[in-house]
Amino acid sequence: MKCPNCGQKAISFREWSKTLNAFNWCCRACRCNLEANWLVKWTAWTAWIACLILGLRPLYNGMAEDRKVEALEMVTGIAQGLGAGIVLGCIAWFFGGFKVILYDKNEEEQDH
Ligand SMILES: [Zn+2]
Repeated sequence: MKCPNCGQKAISFREWSKTLNAFNWCCRACRCNLEANWLVKWTAWTAWIACLILGLRPLYNGMAEDRKVEALEMVTGIAQGLGAGIVLGCIAWFFGGFKVILYDKNEEEQDH
C-alpha cells in the first residue's frame, strides 16, 4: 500500500494485516501520519458485521428451531464468517489506501 504523501510503499501486507496498523500508521519513508481511507473503513465494518452474522447464524437458527446446534454447523458458520472477512480484507488491501492525517494548528488555537 502506497503513502499518499510521498508515493513510496508505506506498509507491508504483514504489518497491514495486523488490523490496527491498517487504521493508523506512520509512513516508513516520510514519517507522516496516515489513516485508513473510507474504502478500508467501509470494508472493515462490513467484514466485522458479516463475520458476526455468519458466525452467529447457526446459534440463532438453533434457538429459533428449539434444537441443539451441532458443532459442524457452528464451524461452518464461523468458517463462512472468516471467509467473508478474508475476501473483504483482500478488497481493502488491493483497492483501499491511506490518507494523510493533517493536524491543523489553527483549529486548536481557535478553541481558546
Ligand atoms: Zn510517505
